Amino acid sequence: MNTQTHGADATPIPMLDLKAEYALFEPELSECLQAVLQSTQFVLGPQVSALEREVADYCGAGHGVGVANGTDALHLAMRALGIGPGHEVVTSAFTFIGTAEAISYCGATPVFVDIDPDTFNIDPVAVEAAITPRTRAVMPVHLFGQCADLARLQAICEQRGLALVEDCAQAIGADWEGTRCGSVGVAGCFSFYPSKNLGCYGDGGMVLTRDAKLADEIKVLRNHGSRTRYHHHVIGYNCRLDEMQAAILRVKLKQLDKLNALRREKAHAYNRLLAGSSVVTPREHGSGMHVYHQYTLRSAKRDAIRAALDAAKIGSMIYYPIPLHRQDVYQEMCRGVGLPHSEQAAASVVSLPMFPMLTDTQIQRVCAVVLGAL
Ligand SMILES: *Cc1c(COP(=O)(O)O)cnc(C)c1O
Repeated sequence: MNTQTHGADATPIPMLDLKAEYALFEPELSECLQAVLQSTQFVLGPQVSALEREVADYCGAGHGVGVANGTDALHLAMRALGIGPGHEVVTSAFTFIGTAEAISYCGATPVFVDIDPDTFNIDPVAVEAAITPRTRAVMPVHLFGQCADLARLQAICEQRGLALVEDCAQAIGADWEGTRCGSVGVAGCFSFYPSKNLGCYGDGGMVLTRDAKLADEIKVLRNHGSRTRYHHHVIGYNCRLDEMQAAILRVKLKQLDKLNALRREKAHAYNRLLAGSSVVTPREHGSGMHVYHQYTLRSAKRDAIRAALDAAKIGSMIYYPIPLHRQDVYQEMCRGVGLPHSEQAAASVVSLPMFPMLTDTQIQRVCAVVLGAL
């Protein structure tokens, strides 16, 4: 029987419910924002410095540098590493465009390689095969909240003298065998875009690194190439994190582990309800905690699933419908490149509503609609 016509609850279920999360942090957020307003210090002040320390400590990295967004975090990390024209950076074809844009901003060439179809993360064997004399860095993306194979990627980078730059935008709090992402590579780059697991109320990002000199260079680059005010020794950028966002993030960071644990509970509840059906539920690799930035299924019937969810006013998204080597902007550069696992993923994935405050009833309704569409 169709649950929709059976007088069941038809309240829309969003992909992400930030209001439910906001309620959890009120009134602490109002209080800390008032304090920033009264301090009248809005850019690169005590909140940003404190957040840099706290995120670096949380992830087990030496230094943090707050920047304007996650794409800038990747861009500045590579600039500070000296990556530029004529260089290649090996990265995943199955990711958000920001990953590749940051490489292109440097004048370097992104070299897209295929993924492990079980985890959607970059395949270390493919990485190795893509290395040339021009390669300077490898940039894994910890997609959907689960770490790429950092042990093998680190070994490859060490052996070949390449920089390992982690795109941690979706995975703050996830670990590889006990080491949190962002502290394994020479640089770990984070986004605090509102929808991320640790999101601010605007744009924000951070680079973590154990290398003090690299941290210093990124600090110079984020602030107009200046170490001392009005003394400029390189052409830098204006891409600083602001005090209000930092203050908000400091409040939310204290709850991150709890919220990530709730995401895991919701994911496991989905797994139980969808078990035994034809959909492929997310695979945990078992070498560290998945923090479920997204809960992503695979199904040959994903278009039917989406249509049924739409009709039931339930959110869903396709992350990502077009792999990067097939995007118009990289078409020319990637002529003749075939990456079957990335292409198959793009054609079969669908992400379901995922946020810490998702209720059991909501999960049951989503699963009933998914199962009904198969
Ligand atoms: C969100 C995201 C980025 C970019 O972060 P912004 O803060 O939006 O610039 C980069 N890579 C991945 C994988 C992301 O999910």
